[in-house]
Amino acid sequence: MPSATKVSDYCDLFLALTEQRTQAALNETLMATCFVLYPEYRFWLYDHQEINHQSYKLLHSSEPQGKFDLDIDAFEQSELEELHNKVRFTQHKNHSYYGFSILHSLSGFLITDMPHTDPLQHEVLLKLIKVYANQRFFMFSALNDSLTGLSNRQAFDQQISSLLLDKNDTARRASDADESNWCFAIMDIDHFKQVNDDYGHLFGDEVLLIFAQMMQQTFRENDLLFRYGGEEFAIALKDISLESALKVLNRFRQVIENAEFPQLGQVTVSIGVTQIEEGLSAPLLIDRADQALYFAKEHGRNQIHCYETLAGSGYVKLNNTREGDIELF
Ligand code: GH3
Ligand code: MG
Ligand code: MG
Repeated sequence: MPSATKVSDYCDLFLALTEQRTQAALNETLMATCFVLYPEYRFWLYDHQEINHQSYKLLHSSEPQGKFDLDIDAFEQSELEELHNKVRFTQHKNHSYYGFSILHSLSGFLITDMPHTDPLQHEVLLKLIKVYANQRFFMFSALNDSLTGLSNRQAFDQQISSLLLDKNDTARRASDADESNWCFAIMDIDHFKQVNDDYGHLFGDEVLLIFAQMMQQTFRENDLLFRYGGEEFAIALKDISLESALKVLNRFRQVIENAEFPQLGQVTVSIGVTQIEEGLSAPLLIDRADQALYFAKEHGRNQIHCYETLAGSGYVKLNNTREGDIELF
């Protein structure tokens, strides 16, 4: 162990994990720590794909070429030898697998070719991964809604701002960098107060959960899904024209309309959609989608409207105020 020789060195390494604020930085810190502690061995960090929870994705590797011949099937059939709280350990084909869970089920692995012979090394890795898994849990809880698992309002504020910043930067540079066309929609479940009043809050919660699951099943992996407020959901659709976004969202509206919700049967949703234009600020973007949503509510609910069409025909007020024009107080 070249650089960590004193207890305080170990403490610094563990502390560094708890100081990370993004998952990417946390992954990098974990890998850098493994490398500082055990430079003679190789490490790979694998995770479940966030969306479909079926395949594993290589997040990080100490190898420049990255590849590791991951044999998850064989691994999943092998017995996990040790269970230490949130970290499980086993050996498979001369490699040590440290499986970690963030919420309930197994979430990913740190894999290494370090032999499992030195109890101190083993202990240090186990604890390192426990700290890593705890930190991942806190990050997840801060940015995800506990009922539906979707990104929460805080994540919404961060991600939408950064999406708009990217969009505006790209426009300023006039380069051919990421010029994805995004659309944005707000969806609000119709007469949801009545659901709670008639069937109770527990059924209301169940509807929200099923609704969120249907969103996850319908939209693409690169789309950003949020629980925006109580019974309001927001979605940023990537690489799509406004015309196609309208079609996709309308199909989702129909899916909800035709679904059979336990006990209460039919639930409907109203949707307002708009295009994410360069120069927009987050409040203006939300206001545009909100105006279209409000129009849908006012004209019978269970329908979708588009801000651009309504503004073009004078049904909603044109909202062209640009970033910097708004005073926040
Ligand atoms: P509209 O069609 O105009 O949207 O009518 P609405 O009844 O859906 O709208 P309103 O804003 O009057 O009511 C929203 C309801 O959503 C009120 C609130 O009790 C309920 N709600 C908000 N968050 C939750 C939650 O987490 N769980 C449950 N069960 N209900 C919630
Ligand atoms: Mg509402
Ligand atoms: Mg509602």
